[in-house]
Amino acid sequence: MNKRYYYLITIICVVFLVVLGFLRFRQEEEVTSEQFLMDTLVSIRVTGDEQEKLQEAVQKAFGEMKRIEELTDRFQAAGSSSCTSEICRVNSAAGKQAQVVDSDVFTMLVLAKEYADLSGGAFDITIGPLLDLWGFGKAEQKVPSAEDIKKALALVDYRELVLDDTDNSVLLKKTGMSLDLGGIAKGYAAGKALQVLQEHGVKSALLNAGGNISVWGQKADKKPWMIGIQDPRDPGEVIGALTLNNESAVTSGDYNRYFIYKGRRYHHIISPFTGYPADKNMSVTVVASDPGIADILSTTLFVLDYTKGLQIVEKLEGVDALFVTADRKIVISSGLKEKFTIKQGKDYTYEESGLVSSN
Ligand code: AMP
Ligand code: MG
Repeated sequence: MNKRYYYLITIICVVFLVVLGFLRFRQEEEVTSEQFLMDTLVSIRVTGDEQEKLQEAVQKAFGEMKRIEELTDRFQAAGSSSCTSEICRVNSAAGKQAQVVDSDVFTMLVLAKEYADLSGGAFDITIGPLLDLWGFGKAEQKVPSAEDIKKALALVDYRELVLDDTDNSVLLKKTGMSLDLGGIAKGYAAGKALQVLQEHGVKSALLNAGGNISVWGQKADKKPWMIGIQDPRDPGEVIGALTLNNESAVTSGDYNRYFIYKGRRYHHIISPFTGYPADKNMSVTVVASDPGIADILSTTLFVLDYTKGLQIVEKLEGVDALFVTADRKIVISSGLKEKFTIKQGKDYTYEESGLVSSN
């Protein structure tokens, strides 16, 4: 009797362990969804335990991105005669009155000023008048006269953006000044979306906002995340691959929004130093743990010569960059040596940063 009892207990234990093992190693659930947001196709792929929870997490993450888009779009909605966004409201009150804004908008403006200072003004969200002049953000673009560029340049200066953190109020000092958050909003929104996904307990997340990639957690196959870096002059091709680990890779390039006039390419990233599209690079990819910072820095470094860009990046902890320069050099910062694999046979020269990282 005692022996039979012993066998029974053993069988129950074995069954229990098998069921436990099955539950533990069962296939993870996966959800993938896409939405057109912030002028681009955004896709989110997550894994976790429950399909329903994943669906809810993804929808909330998209909702958060939509909220940031609506707060930051500087243009009035079609058919509307008044501002619907916070940025539009600040721009309309330029030279007149400070406006109290949402805390996320205020945070973006503080960050933008910080990196404007850090880059000596290469990143400048008061770039609005120049973008309007060139027609970026509008249906038609044109090459403006040198005189008009000079006039618009006089209205571009981040130091004339006054931020008061006692009440989150914002003032553009001169009439005619305008903010444009195109170089920061998408990355900041991606950061908010990732936060929502993590709060909902997803096990891993891959967020692709028009080629700007954020990864979080571990893939089901436990392999590292790998992404391709687009060849700026050959859309179907890559120049190499990057491995990412709980990081974002954000690229600014001259190949997405541009027009050709008299054989020259004019694109949407304007140098606040000259008023013309920045001409030092074809693309700059920044890798950082925060997609908002990666977004700001990719636009910033795109404006700068890579030697200056590297000086900035090597001083920042946990930030790296890959430059594809106008004269067809691929240059990487020191932290990417182990992470970047170049594609052989491409018509680029290759250089690694000689600077020592303070990371
Ligand atoms: P990204 O694709 O992130 O590099 O952002 C490019 C967008 O940033 C442009 O479409 C403009 O909306 C805005 N922008 C252009 N030039 C600058 C600049 N020098 N500083 C900050 N934002 C800029
Ligand atoms: Mg950017």
